[in-house]
Amino acid sequence: MYNPKSLKATEFIDDAEIRASLAWADEHKDDQAMIRSVLDKAKLHKGLSHREASLLLIADDPKINEEIFALAREIKQAYYGNRIVFFAPLYLSNYCINGCVYCPYHLKNKHIPRKKLTQAEIAREVKALEDMGHKRLAIESGEDPKNNPIEYILESIKTIYDTKSKNGSIRRVNVNIAATTVENYKKLKDAGIGTYILFQETYHKASYEKLHPTGPKSNYDYHTEAMDRAMEGGIDDVGLGVLFGLELYRYEFCGLLMHAEHLEAVHGVGPHTISFPRVKHADDIDPSKFDNGITDDTFIKIIAVARVAVPYTGMIISTRESKEVRERALEVGISQISGASKTSVGGYADPEPEEESSAQFDVSDQRPLNEVLDWLLRLGYIPSFCTACYREGRTGDRFMSLCKNNQILNCCHPNALMTLKEYLMDYASPVTRLIGEDVIKREVEKIPNEKIRAFCKDKLERIEKGERDFRI
Ligand code: SAM
Repeated sequence: MYNPKSLKATEFIDDAEIRASLAWADEHKDDQAMIRSVLDKAKLHKGLSHREASLLLIADDPKINEEIFALAREIKQAYYGNRIVFFAPLYLSNYCINGCVYCPYHLKNKHIPRKKLTQAEIAREVKALEDMGHKRLAIESGEDPKNNPIEYILESIKTIYDTKSKNGSIRRVNVNIAATTVENYKKLKDAGIGTYILFQETYHKASYEKLHPTGPKSNYDYHTEAMDRAMEGGIDDVGLGVLFGLELYRYEFCGLLMHAEHLEAVHGVGPHTISFPRVKHADDIDPSKFDNGITDDTFIKIIAVARVAVPYTGMIISTRESKEVRERALEVGISQISGASKTSVGGYADPEPEEESSAQFDVSDQRPLNEVLDWLLRLGYIPSFCTACYREGRTGDRFMSLCKNNQILNCCHPNALMTLKEYLMDYASPVTRLIGEDVIKREVEKIPNEKIRAFCKDKLERIEKGERDFRI
């Protein structure tokens, strides 16, 4: 029985409710009056239910689509402005005891080199990332209690925070490790992590069980209930995602929104982020073997409808996607991207020889960080390395209330400009620096609050003189 407040996976992600929602959307997909009323509700910028969003997702009149895209842009601008936050993944270990059929780290893959970084190797990787300009990492690891126990993850987080290179520092470590216990989530919280990210992969229970035939991850309920345990452990920023291509996208999309509704209903705060990964080619993995691949157009539509349905949630696209797809995704609501990523265990400090590749999947956007940043600036975005929120305690519902009250612009916009200034001073190419300085000059004048504007100008001058602020 569907119950968003239940703590049981099969009740808050109720298969019958998803099917009924999709059937309802099918029934009304040509019902102009119904679509119009959903669009009118969306225009209030307060979000949509999973049913309403499922209707917009299937409505395929080009005019309606244009309206949805325009609204997604408008909402993104209202809550997030034109800032785009950067991060990079750092793979710690690809030892894994699971059997996920889409992932090359699965236990039966005997030819992929297995690697696990030592603390000294992590420090080298972190220095290389800092020397590029990164301030925010997402650590990734396979699930293997013997090789990658929680103590290893905690030690690695400490190493990352303790490693500094020149003016560089990692100021926020997000964590993408397998579902675990409340006790372990408490330990992660105490280690000072940012967001805990866990992709559901698929919300469809029967498919989930087929796609995860062996290992601890095969337990659908345990995996699906992980975010509740994370929140019980005190982590209030959690990141959702499904791996598009595994199941029918409409089913996944509806499940994803129901999961967001569940978190809001039970914990009073929705997901901090939603990621949008698609299955990609990898060692031992041929994405065409998965029947539910989606076109770029469908992918962009999913992102746009998500932006309209969950206006306050950060939305992430990784380098799995090409420059072209990322450009389109940014236009319809993405607020965070990775740049210059390696999906291998090690590879930032020294490139990994091809024959020894430990990569999790192929990366489409392989541009260096400065090039990605330059591209964003030319597209009119403000690249941001800001991590202040989490240090200032603006997480969970405190962050959401800032966002819901449109205060992000007064708060995040100046911080974004300051971190951009730091990047330009420390890492940018001369041309990028020129473009960036111009953008900062223009954007600082747009800060509405006079006091904040003056504060920001003063801070920018101090950064120019060499001061760095680890709190932003
Ligand atoms: N082992 C952890 C877990 O099970 O959640 C960490 C996650 S893994 C390092 C990061 C994510 O990469 C997975 O959740 C999955 O969605 C995604 N992934 C795995 N194989 C992929 C592939 N072939 N193409 C694209 N993404 C993939």
